[in-house]
Amino acid sequence: MDLKHRLLWEAFGYTEFRPGQQKLIDAILAGRDVLGVMPTGAGKSICYQISAMLLPGVSLVISPLISLMQDQVAALHRAGIAACLLNSAQTIQERRETMRLIAAGRCKLIYIAPERLMAPEFCELAAQLPVSMVAVDEAHCISQWGHDFRPSYRKIPRFLNNLPKRPIISAFTATATAQVREDILQALQLREPERLVTSFDRPNLYYEVRRAYDREDQLLRFIHRQNGASGIVYCLTRKKTGQLAESLRHNGIPALAYHAGLEPMARRQVQQQFVSGEIPVIVATNAFGMGIDKPDVRFVVHFGMPRDIESYYQEAGRAGRDGAPAHCLLLFEEKDIQLHQFLMEQDPENPALTDEEVAWLKRQNLARLDRMKCYVFTETCLRQHILQYFGQEAPDFCGQCGNCEASSVEKDVTTEAQKILSCVYRVREQCNADMLCRILLGKDDPDIRSAGYHAVSTFGIMQDSTPEEILTVIQHLVAIGCLVRQDNPKPRLCLSAGAKPVLFQGEAVSIRVQVSRQEARLTRDSRTSENPELAKELRRFRRKLAGLRGVPAFLLFSDRTLEQLVRKLPRSEAKLSRILGENSRLRQRDLQKMLDIIQKYGDSH
Ligand code: ADP
Ligand code: ZN
Repeated sequence: MDLKHRLLWEAFGYTEFRPGQQKLIDAILAGRDVLGVMPTGAGKSICYQISAMLLPGVSLVISPLISLMQDQVAALHRAGIAACLLNSAQTIQERRETMRLIAAGRCKLIYIAPERLMAPEFCELAAQLPVSMVAVDEAHCISQWGHDFRPSYRKIPRFLNNLPKRPIISAFTATATAQVREDILQALQLREPERLVTSFDRPNLYYEVRRAYDREDQLLRFIHRQNGASGIVYCLTRKKTGQLAESLRHNGIPALAYHAGLEPMARRQVQQQFVSGEIPVIVATNAFGMGIDKPDVRFVVHFGMPRDIESYYQEAGRAGRDGAPAHCLLLFEEKDIQLHQFLMEQDPENPALTDEEVAWLKRQNLARLDRMKCYVFTETCLRQHILQYFGQEAPDFCGQCGNCEASSVEKDVTTEAQKILSCVYRVREQCNADMLCRILLGKDDPDIRSAGYHAVSTFGIMQDSTPEEILTVIQHLVAIGCLVRQDNPKPRLCLSAGAKPVLFQGEAVSIRVQVSRQEARLTRDSRTSENPELAKELRRFRRKLAGLRGVPAFLLFSDRTLEQLVRKLPRSEAKLSRILGENSRLRQRDLQKMLDIIQKYGDSH
């Protein structure tokens, strides 16, 4: 085990680095500057913490968030790491004591708020210290194009220039458009940095935008459907958080309000009750969430449109950190837009800014608001919208957001799924997705021949499908736990627990496929009018029979056949046989049973 892995294990209790962490740490330890753009929760802090411990001398971490600093320093202390912090929330005595410890060489990692950097006593101290690295957290705050520009961040370059020896500079941020990234590089004068941008896609998050007609009622119904799961409701004003929390409690949902106006004690208590799971729902302003590490938040509702996509992404991103599915719902009204517009038109009370800068900031804010407006009004894929905003390529259909769902229909792929799973079984779980696809398509190439796969019974049984269709179903089977990827001794797909019900008990599998909105609406309308109870009854019958005979349900009759049965309601054995087709494996007894079911249905309607 190398040193950084040993530290990861001993100080943090983790065995593996997350994507990107290792690369950034290696670059820093090699003496290079870095810029890490990683979404919230990706694990940025470990990058500078582990680097700091392995570098000689001390490292500074500049962070704007006092509560986050306190949490991190406390966690580092628990891990036995000499960290300390300097911020304006401390008393003069506390700061002096900390400075004394630093001067005595007792701190390895110093967290400091940006506004403390240029305090003369700290500048003096810093000039004496062997500073190896300066880590700038939330580095987007340095950019005027960013959504969270903080004038105090502009002191950082001056502070760096004042140091006797230029340290390694590492910059981290969770939200940076291409423009903001450039700005960070420029402002901090990073020298040929290692730039690392990890994907902003959070595949387990389902994004949805709904126009509000009765926002409170919509929210109540949404939360009731969550079965007591944990969630956050973001409001635009402090006042609203109190009202709404009370109204939720009144409707039987344990909820508490949170905003920056509460006493620190009360805030901590609310946080703690939420993190422990005692209180499932927090109704908060955007002050809630920073530094709160709760992995199982199942929903984030925005009760009002946030001011920009950066904020939305960050707040919604507090859902589903454990990787399990989570729902991000935005309920908006036109008046949200007006509220933001109004607030942005006001002059910020900030003596650190010139008039020109104030005007510039206003323009930037309004431009970002415009992009947010596009998000709530778009009819195209919401995930794509978000990812493109952050400069990432994305397909125009994700199938996992409200807009994709509105422009898609559910397609039954039970038969396809059964064929694929049978094939995995026939090749003894030795093939990867690509190879399976080729076998199912019946491609007679040397690889397949030499392995003898051209002789398995599932060779070529999906000749009529395209490779994309097959791969889509395979991906879905992995997602729903019917197949699992293994790497030993080579990448391959194996059957997992969910496969059996699909193969032998006729459990239906469906995926979403893109069609026009109009088509989607039509299909939904027609489906509901078509004897759903009978269809359900016939499916149940098919499932039972398949289980009894130990054969895949699609071999008895396909879903397409089922649809015809439901529409045509055959009353005679001859008619029924005709619909079932000549290859039907059903016995006469089965046919009689089906006629009974159809008859019973017909009689009762
Ligand atoms: P960020 O600053 O990027 O939002 P954090 O640094 O707060 O994220 O990390 C988010 C969570 O992920 C923390 O609970 C952290 O302990 C955890 N984490 C970080 N790195 C790893 C890792 N390599 N393995 C497992 N968990 C990790
Ligand atoms: Zn989508």
